[in-house]
Amino acid sequence: MKLIYEKSVKGRGGFSLKEDNFPYKDISSLIPNYALSEEEKALPEVSEVDVIRHFTKLSKLNYGLDDGMYPLGSCTMKYNPKINEKLASLDNFVYAHPFTDQRYVQGSLQIMYELSEMLSEITGMDKFSLMPAAGAHGELTGVLIIRKFFKDKGEKRSKILIPDSAHGTNPASSAMAGFKVVEVPSNERGGIDIEKLNELMDEDTAGLMLTNPNTVGLFDENIEKIAEIVHSKGGLLYYDGANLNALLGIVRPGDTGFDVVHLNLHKTFSTPHGGGGPGAGAVGVKRELKEFLPSPIVGMSNGEYIFEYPTKSIGRVRAFYTNFPVIVKAYVWIMSLGSDGLREVAETSIINANYILKKLKRYYKPAYDRTCMHECVLTGREYKEFGVKTLDIAKRIMDYGFHPPTIYFPHFQPYAEETIMIEPTESESKETIDSFIETMIKISEEAKTNPELLKEAPHNTPVGRLDEVRAVRNPKLVFKGDNDK
Ligand SMILES: *Cc1c(COP(=O)(O)O)cnc(C)c1O
Repeated sequence: MKLIYEKSVKGRGGFSLKEDNFPYKDISSLIPNYALSEEEKALPEVSEVDVIRHFTKLSKLNYGLDDGMYPLGSCTMKYNPKINEKLASLDNFVYAHPFTDQRYVQGSLQIMYELSEMLSEITGMDKFSLMPAAGAHGELTGVLIIRKFFKDKGEKRSKILIPDSAHGTNPASSAMAGFKVVEVPSNERGGIDIEKLNELMDEDTAGLMLTNPNTVGLFDENIEKIAEIVHSKGGLLYYDGANLNALLGIVRPGDTGFDVVHLNLHKTFSTPHGGGGPGAGAVGVKRELKEFLPSPIVGMSNGEYIFEYPTKSIGRVRAFYTNFPVIVKAYVWIMSLGSDGLREVAETSIINANYILKKLKRYYKPAYDRTCMHECVLTGREYKEFGVKTLDIAKRIMDYGFHPPTIYFPHFQPYAEETIMIEPTESESKETIDSFIETMIKISEEAKTNPELLKEAPHNTPVGRLDEVRAVRNPKLVFKGDNDK
């Protein structure tokens, strides 16, 4: 496909009003000199038809949630109802200026206040800040809160414990907040090695960052024991709740001993993610930490929504208050589902993942053969003897019209060889999931009988197999059957 610049024809343009309808003014008489460019800009000269067709074609080369299933493990790529987008783009929300006097944006503040209250209820925490703009940003905020908490108590603690299965942002956030990161190994069931935790947890350790269910979709049954060990040495328990899909309405992190949590509103709570769009990494804490939250937070006094300034706040973590459209979407989503609906989300996402695990485990050996939560980890290791790697399997999945699952993650040993991590989410129907399962079974046959087919896949996509090293250095795509004039 050509670039729009390559479609440019000198003098061609789109619709324009007749010039003699209006008095003509030279643009240089309207704009100050310093803002005028000397050189002529190389803009494409194309007609309206050219523009519409160009971008419609481009949009069809892509694959998104509106096209089909996107079972990317550890990412919760679920379908997000369009009504949420619609409401988040209402004029009064979109055009509210952050400097507007709070008397005139009471509705927006009410949404922020009520969402914080609902998130507290969902997670079992006491107070939330909606300020952080992403999951990793929420982690940094949470860890800074932990640091300030100990500083305030006059305690010096220099380490944070993080399991080997953690999302890469956990150690990064802790290190940024000035802590030394100490890794805790996993056991063969994919959970925390309790003996090792007992050895590592001491009075120089601020706490443990944990994801539960963890990054391989497994619930750590020892969570109460873990909390006891960390708390017995005066430490705090941090909950990475980027993926809350499996817990909604079933388990509250606050009830299992966590002191600080962050949630990715852009995974579980109805904001699509990927591609760098805005997110929200809301941070919730237990009562004894609430004065350390970023300032300000929205509170209520005499029926009016106001800003409150926590007394020992870590300060601001960004300009203004939050990524507001993300907040509106989360609010609408929770309100439209209600508490029963939220529980159903969790149950359906768990059932869907276990259904896939059960149906596919004969063909792709699971990394951990136990009931999973919202995602399951299979492996393609048996196909190595046919010269087929998991990467080839993933590429072949695209030929059948699905987005491939996450592969080669988790990458910690020893359970992580040739992994395929599937997260169907709650939004796929049984028919779609069955069709995905059939595809995976078919590919397992192909791997044995026609490995070349997989090694050269994908065959039916606009772009074939990329040389991934070259693609990074020279990001220029060549499309197959390129006959676009
Ligand atoms: C996605 C994710 C994060 C990071 O969230 P971002 O918004 O991408 O910064 C952290 N932890 C886990 C477990 C995640 O899945």
